[in-house]
Amino acid sequence: MTALPAGGPGLHQRRNLVTEIPGPASRALMDRRNAAVARGVSTTLPVFVTAAGGGVLLDADGNTLIDFGSGIAVASVGNAAQAVVERVQAQVAQFTHTCFMVTPYQGYVEVCEELGRRTPGTHEKRSALFNSGAEAVENAIKIARHNTGRQAVVAFDHAYHGRTNLTMALTAKNMPYKQGFGPFAGEVYRVPMAYPLRWPGGPQACRAQALDVVRSLIHTQVGEQNVAAVIIEPIQGEGGFIVPPDGFLAGLAEFCRQHGIVFIADEIQSGFCRTGDWFAVEHEGVVPDLVTTAKGIAGGLPLAAVTGRAEIMDAVHAGGLGGTYGGNPVACAAALGAIETMASQDLPARARRIGEIMLPRLRKLAETYPVIADVRGRGAMIAVELTRPGTLDPDPASTAAVAAFCHQAGLVVLTCGTFGNVLRFLPPLVIGEELLEEGLDILENAFASL
Ligand SMILES: *Cc1c(COP(=O)(O)O)cnc(C)c1O
Repeated sequence: MTALPAGGPGLHQRRNLVTEIPGPASRALMDRRNAAVARGVSTTLPVFVTAAGGGVLLDADGNTLIDFGSGIAVASVGNAAQAVVERVQAQVAQFTHTCFMVTPYQGYVEVCEELGRRTPGTHEKRSALFNSGAEAVENAIKIARHNTGRQAVVAFDHAYHGRTNLTMALTAKNMPYKQGFGPFAGEVYRVPMAYPLRWPGGPQACRAQALDVVRSLIHTQVGEQNVAAVIIEPIQGEGGFIVPPDGFLAGLAEFCRQHGIVFIADEIQSGFCRTGDWFAVEHEGVVPDLVTTAKGIAGGLPLAAVTGRAEIMDAVHAGGLGGTYGGNPVACAAALGAIETMASQDLPARARRIGEIMLPRLRKLAETYPVIADVRGRGAMIAVELTRPGTLDPDPASTAAVAAFCHQAGLVVLTCGTFGNVLRFLPPLVIGEELLEEGLDILENAFASL
């Protein structure tokens, strides 16, 4: 084994391509991958990473790529962030697992204390820790059902909540998440999302009508008294970075409060400073009953949480929640390092700054290239939606072409959206502004090349 270059913030913060993308070393690893790894686990950009940090990824061929993905909104503090590395190294040398349900440890408690402090609302809170976002969502639903004695769960068009059986049922999009994987969990009801671009009649009609439509559908088709929970991503992630009009989330929360329905904000993608606030619901001062978190919480280690009102969380009998690994001590150490980094470096402000740089440039791009129908998002959770010019017909082909151009040029971008026609940008919040501008230059060239 040759020594690998160290990752983390010390990695040279410059794009540098020394081979085609992917290079020969990555292609050779891809061949091995295809012979050993299940095909169902897919790859966006087949470059094999050897180190990462700040705003760059270094690959097995020595190429340095700009990262506009953060491993899907996970490495918000940057890969191998110093505080994360130090705390993880100290913890891993001390002990790696006892199971919190058998013999507890302080790190778990500290993460729950941080969650109580950082999540919206000043009420008394409790948290429970899990391994993945899907697991957190499943548990939030379990808690809401237990608490209300009701069964129905309301989710939205374009929602993404995970890939386990219940969360597949909550997720809207069939291909690739659900196709052939049924039967799905019952008592899940779907209502329209307040999607300004695609609401019949457009953004004004969306603002005026969406809440009434949702309330009416719940009343007529489910019955408020049967609904345990309404779950929503404050800004939808995989479904296309859809930002509901101001007032929608607040109205929904109020409707839930009136009818004793648990209001769950799935902040797994939008949380932990991504949108310029610690949590996206804060933008409108909305206080959910339960919040699910994962992705950005622990600088890349697997950790997830449900945080909520003490009386809802504590209604569950002892032993009703948990899991072997949930709140693993190494993952908790990483979370404490990540949260410390977010606070000490004021990463909500960094996210807002990223939005201030990206949004004007993307809006200008949209004036030049009518294939861009919408520029939206907040902070460092930004997207453009591509359609056939002058229509709302999704253009996934141009979206894929722009992404492929960026990948060849050494810029990692991700696509999303129910129709596969959204380019999303989720740079690490610690990315340097020169790298950010260079990434946007590449994106401009990509649109010029269409
Ligand atoms: C990614 C995601 C999930 C699922 O998280 P996993 O850790 O992949 O299970 C759930 N909800 C939202 C909003 C997500 O973005």
